[in-house]
Amino acid sequence: MTEKTAGQGAAHEAAAGRRRVYLDHAATTPVRPEVAEAVTRHMLSEYGNPSSVHSLGRAAAAAVEEARERVARLMGARVEEVVFLSGGTEADNMAIRGVVTASGKSRPHVVTTKIEHHAVLHTCEELEREGLAEVTYLPVDGTGLVDPGDVARAIRPETVLVSVMFANNEVGTIQPVKEIGRVCREKAVPFHTDAVQAYGAVPIDVDEFGIDLLSVSAHKVYGPKGVGALFIRKGMNVRPLVFGGGHERRRRAGTTNVPGVVGFGVAADLAAREIEERAAHLVPLRDTLVRGVLERVPFARLNGHPTRRLPNNVNLSFEYVEGESILLSLDMKGIAASSGSACTSGSLEPSHVLLAMGLPHEVAHGSVRMTLGTGTTAADIEYVIETLPPIIERLRAMSPLYAAAVAQRGRAGRP
Ligand code: PLP
Repeated sequence: MTEKTAGQGAAHEAAAGRRRVYLDHAATTPVRPEVAEAVTRHMLSEYGNPSSVHSLGRAAAAAVEEARERVARLMGARVEEVVFLSGGTEADNMAIRGVVTASGKSRPHVVTTKIEHHAVLHTCEELEREGLAEVTYLPVDGTGLVDPGDVARAIRPETVLVSVMFANNEVGTIQPVKEIGRVCREKAVPFHTDAVQAYGAVPIDVDEFGIDLLSVSAHKVYGPKGVGALFIRKGMNVRPLVFGGGHERRRRAGTTNVPGVVGFGVAADLAAREIEERAAHLVPLRDTLVRGVLERVPFARLNGHPTRRLPNNVNLSFEYVEGESILLSLDMKGIAASSGSACTSGSLEPSHVLLAMGLPHEVAHGSVRMTLGTGTTAADIEYVIETLPPIIERLRAMSPLYAAAVAQRGRAGRP
């Protein structure tokens, strides 16, 4: 596994004539060659429409069902409970809007958190604007954890859905999903979780965790972009978002994206086989990176939970520097990282996740997310540990605030 993707990285490096270290796997992942092969086959030769009755159509329908089986298996679901759609964003939209509009309640209420992806937050805000739902946004602690007790206390008779993400895309904190699932079961409220970052990275079993709806996306697990799935537990009443033909058992109209879905199936199958191997590869590299940088850079901290975090996530804050400046300097050295989620980077607003965790604005501004992948090597991590500290030092040298802080707190940056 590692050599294959590392080999792709080497090709990139050669093409660019310089070192390339891609540490933005939470934004998207490179497609695995096995996935690309299946996608290409279903574009060039097995291109039938799964709704057609002829043999090319039937072959496409069979390939889609095989993919459904593979995607379902990686979350412990039954095949008929998986609906294919255009990605994690659509899955989140459908889960929340679909349950609210099917609820039949006069004032449906949704419980979610302040640290959700915008696919969840903006859907909730839009439902509030349309007067279709009331929403409670739960706080998190300093490590990004939601308290299951808060979930229990927020549920009221009109509550139609609890939506708490499985793992956060910015800081990697993994929520107490099983405990939240138990609370929802006790209160008889459906539980949705956005598992876009967790799927394929940590074991998920929808029955064991008491999950009723679960969003996943192919391009975060070495699959193609523009395809995802929503798990809908049998018996759940969810109104479709998209109307038209009777595709996906009438849950999602539109001709199936067969190449994408088949590619997703291959990616899910690879993840199922490699999930432990991937974590065993990533966790030591992740921890080496965190240790290596924090040992060399004062006035720095790790964001997110120290242990309950995704195997590939590193999120660091550096006081007295702008995250965007760090990113640009890293990019010039061939290192691709991110400041918060891809959708918010570029904006001047600091990350809503870091702010919800209680970071002051100026510290949240100086944050960098580095997310590792199966192709990341020990040499890549060593290169980042060598490259990042001088960048921070150079940027801080321009800051009068930093000089004052050193005078007050000393070079080690102890408060
Ligand atoms: N939810 C989370 C937690 C994500 O990280 C992302 C992607 O960044 C999404 C949803 C959206 O997924 P997609 O890019 O497939 O629309």
